Amino acid sequence: MKRKVVVIGGGIAGLSAGIYAQKCGFDVTILESHSLAGGNCTSWKRGGYLFEGGMHWLSGSAPQEKLNSLWRHVGALNDNVAIHYPEPFIEYDDNGTPVRFYRNVDATEQHMLALSPADAKEIRRLCNHIRKVKNLAIPITNLRGLKTTKKNRLPLSLLSSALSALLLIRSFSKISREQYLSRFHHAGIREMLRACTSESNGVLPLFFTMGTLARGDGGFPEGGSLPFVQRMAKTFASLGGQLLLNTRAERVLVKNGQATGVMAGDKQLDTNAVIVASDTMAMEHLFDIPPQAAWLEEMRAKTQPTMATLVCLGMGVSLKKYNNYIIFKLKTPIKLAEQTYEYLRANNYAADAVYSPKGKTAMTFQLGGDTYAFWKKAKEEGRYEEEKQKIAHEVVAALTTHIPEVEGRVEVSNVATPLTYERYCANWKGSWMTEMTPGMKMKSYPAVIKGLEGVYFAGHRMVPPGGLPIALLSGRTAVQYLCRDRGTLFVCEE
Ligand SMILES: Cc1cc2nc3c(=O)[nH]c(=O)nc-3n(C[C@H](O)[C@H](O)[C@H](O)COP(=O)(O)OP(=O)(O)OC[C@H]3O[C@@H](n4cnc5c(N)ncnc54)[C@H](O)[C@@H]3O)c2cc1C
Repeated sequence: MKRKVVVIGGGIAGLSAGIYAQKCGFDVTILESHSLAGGNCTSWKRGGYLFEGGMHWLSGSAPQEKLNSLWRHVGALNDNVAIHYPEPFIEYDDNGTPVRFYRNVDATEQHMLALSPADAKEIRRLCNHIRKVKNLAIPITNLRGLKTTKKNRLPLSLLSSALSALLLIRSFSKISREQYLSRFHHAGIREMLRACTSESNGVLPLFFTMGTLARGDGGFPEGGSLPFVQRMAKTFASLGGQLLLNTRAERVLVKNGQATGVMAGDKQLDTNAVIVASDTMAMEHLFDIPPQAAWLEEMRAKTQPTMATLVCLGMGVSLKKYNNYIIFKLKTPIKLAEQTYEYLRANNYAADAVYSPKGKTAMTFQLGGDTYAFWKKAKEEGRYEEEKQKIAHEVVAALTTHIPEVEGRVEVSNVATPLTYERYCANWKGSWMTEMTPGMKMKSYPAVIKGLEGVYFAGHRMVPPGGLPIALLSGRTAVQYLCRDRGTLFVCEE
């Protein structure tokens, strides 16, 4: 009983928690309601095509990153996993002229200067903004007072990068996206920047993403989500952990403020350590008395969901000549719920044999924005399938206008809505990350609640904006709290 830990949820956070806890000598059971581990980090096969429904680029993929040693620690990456860094990263089609963001910021600068010498000053500034945040990696810290096999000190370089980032954030705090774009003369550059950013969040997130890529990180591990998760599940099993699939946790049992077990169907698992690695925004139903804490209130008040309707197409034509990540402007904007899409962003897997059969193309389109209520209503009114077909038709029509060889070649169309993600992962509104709205800080919520002993929280909500690295780190942090509470050594060789 002393060493028994139950983890609720077998996504990246739950698997991470399970692996770290096993390595620390605990005896872990992960309960996962779906028939597959991985949660949002997933892909699915339809008619011979594989559609990537999770990972698009991974922080910590590059060997020089500290985070890389953590991905290796949990078995997600190893020397045999090839990492792809396709260049250019994004290509916007400006009426036949490509406007590109390369991972290599110098290449972006050269390319844009050649496109628009009149914008030289602003292009250099833009690339310098990216350079300023280039070394800002996600900090990997240990809890104070933790006994560990390896101390972890933050490198000084991270402090200076954080300072540059802070200054950049300050200097952009009062500049709207349109104000910023108006500094550029070249319409294609303006359109490209508009397509890669949002009105509400401005241009800053783009600088940070491009900064990560510019330092050589943010690659795509061969095979994407599924093998990535399978490697973690294999590591967990090899350490003696037990992963129970198709097993939904219904209740965390609490007696006198202390966890005593978890109910899953008619099974009762006795334990006094539970790590809740399902969405923190949707976990109240697990408790007879919903947990209360100031940080939970803050999370509930501030969290804006990142979600998308994912349109997946399998086409009997090779679109290898097109870039991996293409953006184009629509002649007629597409409307979905309250959202209007002026651009389509396509992830093109034509060159990846894992996703596309020979001579064919798997392609996905993320239509972002909060469409949850729309899909929910459509479901209630029996229009769900019809609406899914409608949006797929609109995307196919727009793509055909842009890439005529697609005409008549769509063999498979598949739409995953926020309801799909909600059904599989039980996430709040089917969302899988948190929007970084202006003024929001990338600060960590505590993984514990006073008065609720033996319950720890992990998952992508623990540090906005979330994503795979946060899910990984949150599992590690939850185990650090557990080790500190128990006075046991936190074992890590990362
Ligand atoms: C389209 C898309 C693109 C993305 N692109 C990227 C990207 O490029 N880079 C990146 O870093 N991130 C990306 N993400 C985000 C990333 O996939 C998620 O943030 C991350 O996987 C979240 O992991 P998690 O373990 O915290 O949560 P989840 O993945 O939500 O896992 C929670 C798990 O808990 C299970 N569960 C819930 N309730 C219960 C219960 N009661 N009992 C048992 N099990 C339960 C669920 O089934 C699920 O498996 C993307 C996500 C999507 C959907």
